[in-house]
Amino acid sequence: MSVSPKGLQGIKTIRDFELADKVVFLRLDLNVPLEGGKITDDTRITASLPTINFALEKGAKLVIASHLGRPKAFGDKKYSMEPVAQRLTELLKREVILIEDPKSDAVKALLMGLKKTQVILLENLRYEPGETENSEEFAHAMASYTQIYINDAFGASHRAHSSIDALPRIVKNKGIGFLIEKEIQMLDKLMTSPARPYLAVMGGAKVSDKIDVIEKLMDIVDGIIIGGAMAYTFLKARGLSVGKSLVETDKVNYAKEMIARMEARGKSLLLPVDHLVTEDFNSGKAELVPGESIPEGKMGIDIGPQTIKLFSRAIQESKTVFWNGPMGVFENPAYAKGTFAIAQALAESQATKIVGGGDSAAAAEASGFADKMTHISTGGGASLEYLQGVRLPGLEALRPPKTSEKL
Ligand code: AMP
Repeated sequence: MSVSPKGLQGIKTIRDFELADKVVFLRLDLNVPLEGGKITDDTRITASLPTINFALEKGAKLVIASHLGRPKAFGDKKYSMEPVAQRLTELLKREVILIEDPKSDAVKALLMGLKKTQVILLENLRYEPGETENSEEFAHAMASYTQIYINDAFGASHRAHSSIDALPRIVKNKGIGFLIEKEIQMLDKLMTSPARPYLAVMGGAKVSDKIDVIEKLMDIVDGIIIGGAMAYTFLKARGLSVGKSLVETDKVNYAKEMIARMEARGKSLLLPVDHLVTEDFNSGKAELVPGESIPEGKMGIDIGPQTIKLFSRAIQESKTVFWNGPMGVFENPAYAKGTFAIAQALAESQATKIVGGGDSAAAAEASGFADKMTHISTGGGASLEYLQGVRLPGLEALRPPKTSEKL
């Protein structure tokens, strides 16, 4: 049994099983972005390849399963796994057979005569309402053809859904794939033995989304940088004017308290010292405000050059950096400079740099520096919840009961 980081205690990995001729149910996160039926970013598919290829090389009969978006009804074509099946066919150079209904006998029938050159892919698990309801009945249907269950869907492991929770609870032989293993090892290292100084770079839209993770990080890190729209709530808490920038009024007191707590612990909290502002979000126009305060009628949309210098220096002085959330409205190239400069500073630093998923992963990708990061998480929500100390249902369902109680 592989026992490495604490978070994986008691959990087997795909290496621990004899896979030859066994039916392996591989729960992946193939929830890729689609536009007009075309995959616009296949990172989640390529990130799953090591586990898929390992299972195939060992001679497993593979049933691959994932959710895709939020379909409204069974068979909702917009969320069909068809494009994923096509991409997998190209990448695996095998025939990928797409099964409409994971509950039907078609799966068992196909498995009986499955050739080495074929792989089964189930249609969008969320076509079945039982998936999000964590249905036992749906889980039993999937378990009826599963000999070994492997979860490698890190990005979905914070959801107690049927294929993540109920199904592995009723399958005896179960474990994780290489992607989850790497994700947890990286996140565990951040929580237990980060090289110091350890800096968290937080950005994005809302303080309220990140309070829990900030609370946890505050104990562990040596310093926190706050950029993005979140920063204006903090600047307001410091009594500065923020114009019409996004502010969460009900979080201003929290921000005040947090500033005081960081000070009391002697930890640094860096906020923007200059800004790019606009009057109209959609105009693509921006002007520089050289100080901390933002004038009436203007809205902060990116950090300014002095802030870039300040934040980059802090990154250079750190040995571990966790980055979550863009520094501005990076989706618009006119407001992306700050975010990309932070990505560059990370790329140039010798630190261990871990990027939280979601928008931060997209920003790292768009900056062109993604390959210079130590690790980019494939799961935004899952990585933040894990860092907060929340137990992920997708991991807990894989532990023997005793280990789960002790942790
Ligand atoms: P999150 O999902 O919380 O990481 O937030 C990411 C979003 O925050 C992105 O879509 C950014 O466009 C947005 N964002 C970052 N900075 C700002 C800003 N100054 N004003 C408005 N939105 C922002």
